[in-house]
Amino acid sequence: MSDTFNAIVARERDGKVQGQLEALTAADLPDEDVLVEISHSTLNYKDGLAVSGRGRICRRLPMVCGIDLAGVVGESRDGRFQAGDRVLVNGYELSEKYWGGYAQRQRLKGDWLVPVPAAFTAEQAMALGTAGYTAMLSVLAIQDAGLTPDAGPALVTGATGGVGAVSVMLLSALGYEVTGVTGKPDGAQFLQSLGAAATIAREELARDSRPLESETWAAAVDSVGGNTLATVLAQTRRGGLVAAVGLAGGFRLPATVMPFILRGVTLRGIDSVMASQERRRRAWGALAELVDPAKLAEIYRVAPMSDVPALANEILDGRISGRVVIDVNA
Ligand code: NDP
Repeated sequence: MSDTFNAIVARERDGKVQGQLEALTAADLPDEDVLVEISHSTLNYKDGLAVSGRGRICRRLPMVCGIDLAGVVGESRDGRFQAGDRVLVNGYELSEKYWGGYAQRQRLKGDWLVPVPAAFTAEQAMALGTAGYTAMLSVLAIQDAGLTPDAGPALVTGATGGVGAVSVMLLSALGYEVTGVTGKPDGAQFLQSLGAAATIAREELARDSRPLESETWAAAVDSVGGNTLATVLAQTRRGGLVAAVGLAGGFRLPATVMPFILRGVTLRGIDSVMASQERRRRAWGALAELVDPAKLAEIYRVAPMSDVPALANEILDGRISGRVVIDVNA
């Protein structure tokens, strides 16, 4: 095994923090208990922010970027893991405080590792990645609130994005009548193929809303924030739940308390980064049961690690539909 390996490393370059492909050696790796030979990572919105330097994600430099990884344990000083175990990591401040998954190998804390479900290859697990696992956390929040498909239709915003596309897939597999909100002109066909019953244009929600609008959605998964989230809240039915996941359209929330105090609407925040191991394992178990591999194959493509700097800008500019898996060894 060669001592040198490739990684996307963020450093200050020309006055800006940016990630580029570099060669590292085993001696560069942090002194954590489990060495993982990584096969795949993936591209999330947050990776776009970190690698491009358009968001302040990396809090220590140099930083190996990549919030997700899947691979095989190479060596372990942690009794819970042995060489050969298939493992994945999502979040846990990788790419913020700790070195992450855009590398051919990494040393990680055993507390962060989750077994790759037997139903998935490493590539499929990363086709889901943080986006898919977060979509599942959102769907579990809807289910835990007792909102079954009979409660009424479900809405997914940013629907052709990673969290959005997997949320559409999961909710429709569970029997919900799903409407996807998209800004992409060709988004409707893609969303229908994932099981969406209807599609609406982004502008219909990304506007100033009234405190209460016509009661429409029993449940929603929102990746967008801003005016969109405020409008979704105003349109949520009595007793409904909105899972607030993201900020692709802005971090402000220009809403009123009316949906909460007059309709008992719940706004449920979803934090995938520091979710407990119990919640992670529950989510991955549910993904293994619900995801149809043939449908999953339709929503991702595989790219080499050298493409990550260009892909980082593409995802921030909203030019990517579905998911991109990164083959770190290609
Ligand atoms: P993607 O870029 O894959 O998806 C975001 C989607 O949002 C886009 O595809 C687009 O969908 C829509 N969108 C983009 N820009 C705008 C805009 N200006 N106004 C309205 N809609 C827009 O990102 P991810 O799915 O990886 O992440 C989505 C969001 O969720 C991000 O903000 C991310 O940081 C957050 N996130 C949070 C997590 C958590 O733990 N809370 C975990 C994972 C992600 P379309 O073209 O179909 O409209």
